[in-house]
Amino acid sequence: MTQGATKVCIYPGCDRAAAPPHPLGGPQPSFCDLEEHNALSAHLERRRLARAARRTEPNEEDE
Ligand SMILES: [Zn+2]
Repeated sequence: MTQGATKVCIYPGCDRAAAPPHPLGGPQPSFCDLEEHNALSAHLERRRLARAARRTEPNEEDE
């Protein structure tokens, strides 16, 4: 087991280190210390990226 493994923020496109675990215990957060990086914003951003990716895909579904 590796102690102090660096967890990275799971926000799409963010590669900052995840915030440190709470000193009183509990699991380490999956996001960095940026306030706008949280489960909800990450979810919305992932949806936005998925839609953007679909739009750039050569895809003839105009009808
Ligand atoms: Zn982040």
